[in-house]
Amino acid sequence: MDQTDKIFIAGHRGLAGSAITRNLEAAGFTNLLKRDRKELDLSNESAVAAFFEKEKPDVVVLAAARVGGIKANADYPVEFLLDNLRIQNNVISAAHANDVRKLLFLGSSCIYPKHAPQPIPESALLTGALEPTNDAYAIAKIAGIKLCQAYAAEYGENYISAMPTNLYGPGDNFDLLGSHVLPALLSKALEAKASGRREMVVWGTGQPRREFLHVDDMADACVFLLNNYDSPEIINVGYGDDISIRELAELICDVVGFDGELTFDATKPDGTPRKLLDVSKIATLGWRPKIPLREGIASTCEWYLQNNTPALAAR
Ligand code: GDP
Repeated sequence: MDQTDKIFIAGHRGLAGSAITRNLEAAGFTNLLKRDRKELDLSNESAVAAFFEKEKPDVVVLAAARVGGIKANADYPVEFLLDNLRIQNNVISAAHANDVRKLLFLGSSCIYPKHAPQPIPESALLTGALEPTNDAYAIAKIAGIKLCQAYAAEYGENYISAMPTNLYGPGDNFDLLGSHVLPALLSKALEAKASGRREMVVWGTGQPRREFLHVDDMADACVFLLNNYDSPEIINVGYGDDISIRELAELICDVVGFDGELTFDATKPDGTPRKLLDVSKIATLGWRPKIPLREGIASTCEWYLQNNTPALAAR
């Protein structure tokens, strides 16, 4: 990519899109196109078509999606399916209609079967049944991958699809009902510490294992792929290691300085037992993550205290 390329970052205010925007700006890219939801509704086909026709971006990063944790996915399958299909169909088809040179579609590690081999190679896609707690989101993302591959096969488009593992970092959703586990436990631990409580509730058994990648590492990988990867085959973007939810909760409590008890609420679902990506493909190309989990949690905690809960930070 050239620093003057017009790059449309769809979803530039989200966790992933804002990190990619920060990365590109720091690297000297000066022609970034950003539109928030009020300016451009990505689920509106004609609005997206008109926007592309007017702006004619050179490159598109499709980081816009309806996302959420295990509860939000289970509670709102219609929205997770429909909104994501609409957004990606509109953006990808408008990119093709307006000669976008390269498009990066962001998928997710939940596209893989519930009982995929661990670590999960890219070849596991569509080899088995999905985890039911997030199958609506997964099916939308799989449709996005297939659409990018179809444009590559039928029209020779250079649309690439990256599958990031569970992401965390500044700009995450810390709302307890909608969020993923890492920001939820971080906010619970801070709240328990601040209010002098001796107990913190963790959903499920604590036994599932998850892989966590700092979103700045993911952004770095995306820019690396935009510059170095031109295949319609999906590519995993992960940290390369995972931990149990119990270990994650203990690590977060340690970083936060909360030394109370953990209790496990078995009425909440565990979801998929393990979701560790095989990252050998991107490693062979020359990319590796740089931010250790403990360090990433500590900096995310600082960001949260500065941006979300001044009342907590002051205590
Ligand atoms: P998943 O990776 O799609 O399953 O989504 P999540 O990040 O929401 O959940 C990961 C795991 O963390 C599941 O086993 C959850 O039950 C568990 N978990 C433990 N405590 C929490 C919590 O407070 N919030 C969320 N979202 N998950 C939690």
